[in-house]
Amino acid sequence: MAQDQGNRNSIELPAAACAVIDALEAGGFEAWAVGGCVRDSLLGRPISDCDIATAARWQQAENILAAAGYAVHRTGTKHGTVTAVRDGSAFEVTTYRTEEGYSDGRHPDSVIFTASIEEDLARRDFTVNALAYHPRRGLLDPFGGRDDLAAGLLRAVGDPDCRFAEDGLRILRGLRFASQLGFALEPRTLQSMQAQKMMLQKVSAERIVHEMDGLLLGDHAHDGLMQAIDVLGAIMPEIVACKGFRQHTPYHIYDVWEHIAWTVQYAPTTRLARWSAFFHDTGKPGSFFMEGDVGHCYGHGKLSVIIAREVMGRLKMAPRFIDDVALLVRVHDHQIAPTAKGVRRALAKLDGDAAMFRTLLGLKRADALAQSELAAPRLQAVGEMEALLDELLAADAAFTVGQLAIDGNDARQMGMAPGPAIGALLRAALDAVIDGTVPNEREPLLAFAARWMDDGQAQGTR
Ligand code: ATP
Ligand code: MG
Repeated sequence: MAQDQGNRNSIELPAAACAVIDALEAGGFEAWAVGGCVRDSLLGRPISDCDIATAARWQQAENILAAAGYAVHRTGTKHGTVTAVRDGSAFEVTTYRTEEGYSDGRHPDSVIFTASIEEDLARRDFTVNALAYHPRRGLLDPFGGRDDLAAGLLRAVGDPDCRFAEDGLRILRGLRFASQLGFALEPRTLQSMQAQKMMLQKVSAERIVHEMDGLLLGDHAHDGLMQAIDVLGAIMPEIVACKGFRQHTPYHIYDVWEHIAWTVQYAPTTRLARWSAFFHDTGKPGSFFMEGDVGHCYGHGKLSVIIAREVMGRLKMAPRFIDDVALLVRVHDHQIAPTAKGVRRALAKLDGDAAMFRTLLGLKRADALAQSELAAPRLQAVGEMEALLDELLAADAAFTVGQLAIDGNDARQMGMAPGPAIGALLRAALDAVIDGTVPNEREPLLAFAARWMDDGQAQGTR
């Protein structure tokens, strides 16, 4: 067994994980910490969950761990997995296994349990995920994962063509890790991902969304997306035209795809902001035309919305989330004057939703940061709008009809019949408040309403 005795101190496993390993070994079965926790610990990143691999069959692991005071849950016994819980920590414990046949391109046809940790590591996706660690035996690294960690490389374990042909999900996992860790795909591995990209068709919509979330929210989303474009075409053909698409305007130093990649990276780290950034300019190739030597993309936001809805609908994402992304994509480049009135109007258009407006401003900032220096005034305007928004919110200003100091009852008491005219009056009153011509107070608004009704009678329209 190739072991690295010298490096054991660079890993700090949680004491509770060591306790599970010790319990299994005291019961007579070898056990190691494996996968993401070893990788993240060597990188000095926070460990999310710590998986344990063991030579014990799940029934044996269950008996030993239950005797050691763990609550043991049979969370995946078909694949040899039980989950051991004690003092609030939970660990997945899985029997060493190899896998055989992947006729659906996603799941092994059969799982074969084995007594060899090396065989278990060989079935894993990337060398940096095929590391095992034991508190006393040290690091087990049969595929050079530690060198790849140091070099920042994601390399498939074994023959990359075979590995991606077995399970298409690995392709997206690789891109997601590239974005999260800031790693490069080793050239042959990337080549195979591209060659096998049609395997992505076999991955469920839910898993695609999960990996896309990780890719878009990663700290190195730009680098991840730049490596991803040729692969993503297999599941999002609508975005491929963005690659290399020159914009022919002094505002842009990048082609559309790289501009998108930077916008995603600069956007706030929320799902809504990142998915909106991902789609915001996808309508540019379709709306593009040249006038002399300058390119235009008038109305590209509307085309981007069509693409966003198409892709997210196919991925079965939540309808409300799709609507929110579509809204932000549609208005992302609408001009807003950096004045109190401009901000009030923009907020009113978003139904007074201040959180949505903040996300829009975050998207606008990211969009401007991903442009040329000519966009500096846009950047400054975003800062001013944020400050104005804070002031307006602190002043409790009205952005929706519901926030007005009068309501429909007042209109009825003034003699208006129930119906759409009342809504029209309240919207007119809101416009007046937003424009600053009438304060949001009862008496002035009632006077405004009386004038509005008189005008309407004079014109015979209300
Ligand atoms: P994170 O939990 O941060 O997403 P991880 O590497 O721990 O990263 P998991 O999905 O928790 O990812 O999987 C645990 C380990 O199982 C991985 O490190 C890898 O060794 C292996 N693994 C997971 N999915 C696959 C797959 N589709 N093909 C091969 N090995 C896989
Ligand atoms: Mg994990």
